[in-house]
Amino acid sequence: MSITPEFQFSQSSLHDYEECVRRFQLRYIDRLAWPAAEVQPALEHERYIQQGETFHRLVQQHILGIPADEIVVRGDELRSWWQNYLAYPPANLPMTRFPEILLSAKIAGHHLVAKYDLLAIEAGQRAVIVDWKTTRKRPKTQWLTRNIQTRVYRYVLVRSGVMGHAFIPEQVEMVYWFANAPTEPEILPYTVAQFQDDEAYLMRLIEQIKGQTEFPKTEHEGICRFCPYRGLCGRAEKAGTVEDMIDWLERDEDVFTLLNTKLEMEF
Ligand code: SF4
Repeated sequence: MSITPEFQFSQSSLHDYEECVRRFQLRYIDRLAWPAAEVQPALEHERYIQQGETFHRLVQQHILGIPADEIVVRGDELRSWWQNYLAYPPANLPMTRFPEILLSAKIAGHHLVAKYDLLAIEAGQRAVIVDWKTTRKRPKTQWLTRNIQTRVYRYVLVRSGVMGHAFIPEQVEMVYWFANAPTEPEILPYTVAQFQDDEAYLMRLIEQIKGQTEFPKTEHEGICRFCPYRGLCGRAEKAGTVEDMIDWLERDEDVFTLLNTKLEMEF
């Protein structure tokens, strides 16, 4: 079984493919839900995920015009993130703002979709992509630059424009804002050369997926501890703990990528 012409790619599906071809097949072709907890203790992990979702919702409400003092925030960690957002928001954003907006561009015969936390634009001048990150560890610049999310988000914006406004690559930048490190946002400008490189890479990746006839398991078995399909694959009987994951994040960029992607999917 392979990709249908209607299949829509996203940064999440492309990243799953980069991490493990087998997981891409299970999640996006077979559409198989598998109930294994991704990390232990599951409840703590679940709480953290929900808290991240709540933070995104609070910020969206605020951007849509609800005054900060009318927004109710519960819980110490969430309140700390919220106070960080109010005290150190991304600087110098254009005033026309679109929270939670979906854009799409056609590439290699398929739609590539991107859901943005926030687009802030000044018509004909600038478009700033803001992504709110609630992960515990701030990733390195090098990782953020080559992250598939960065590639997809900037590329799709240039290809599709925003509400009828077109932007050239040099007018686009991406800002990763970190709830746990609000004074250290990552600001990634864009160039024509990067746009062309992204287009070539994304086209190559999608063509490769379309031609894929076998979907092998990843060789990096450490990743399987944090994958919901590990029971099905006969990998890593026990889920990794949240602490395991954080340890891995400290020393392994690829595992950080996995966590980050998963959070993106769930937010
Ligand atoms: S358990 Fe491992 S091999 Fe199986 S889908 Fe997940 S990451 Fe891939």
